[in-house]
Amino acid sequence: MESNKQKILDRITTACEACGRSSTDVRLVWVSKARPVSAVENAIAAGARDFGENRVQEALEKFLPQREGIVCRIIGPVQKNKLRKAVQVAQAIDTVADLESVQKLEALCEEANKNLEILFQVNASEEATKSGLSMAEAFDFLNKLPEPKRLVYKGLMTIGKNTGNPEDSRICFAFLRNLRDELFNSSPKFSNFTELSMGMTDDLEVAISEGATMVRVGTALFASQLTNHP
Ligand SMILES: *Cc1c(COP(=O)(O)O)cnc(C)c1O
Repeated sequence: MESNKQKILDRITTACEACGRSSTDVRLVWVSKARPVSAVENAIAAGARDFGENRVQEALEKFLPQREGIVCRIIGPVQKNKLRKAVQVAQAIDTVADLESVQKLEALCEEANKNLEILFQVNASEEATKSGLSMAEAFDFLNKLPEPKRLVYKGLMTIGKNTGNPEDSRICFAFLRNLRDELFNSSPKFSNFTELSMGMTDDLEVAISEGATMVRVGTALFASQLTNHP
């Protein structure tokens, strides 16, 4: 796992240098979905701090009780009836895309007396299989959001195009960056709106050159580890 990690960190550093960014501006999210808790423990031993899970149930199994300094992010769509459990286990939900979820999360966080980071997912590749706000509706939807209380509106998340050519995703990533900048400048509601979660194993270089602040990597980090769901 150490050597997997080093390869990814080297790729992040090289990509940052190529566009004049500091590698400390890009956080690595270890996508531990479908890996057992032993893989999470190995990752923590190798220095991992930020994890991504796409199913709430799996997150509960691996990330409760909470470990000091370890962040669990939900990176898959969450059904309304799973939001309560998501709030119990996660420090961030990166896939919010409707008003009802925002309202429910506010209420749940109030009840739990906790703050929660929110990223809004945008379907910037406009692929029907992906969830998220459409590019056409995203600005208006976000602009009309209520003032956050327990929630912290932190930024945007997207999944690039799955064409085999990472350059095909550049336009999606650039769209996301522009949208974040517009919102950041539009209202005090968005004063914490700095994050762009974009880029995975295959397209992290392009995402970093377009401003990613978090890249989500699974396969390339956990390749040598067991899977829960072969
Ligand atoms: C699985 C997943 C990843 C990680 O993808 P890899 O190709 O394994 O690096 C990133 N983001 C999301 C939303 C995922 O579901």
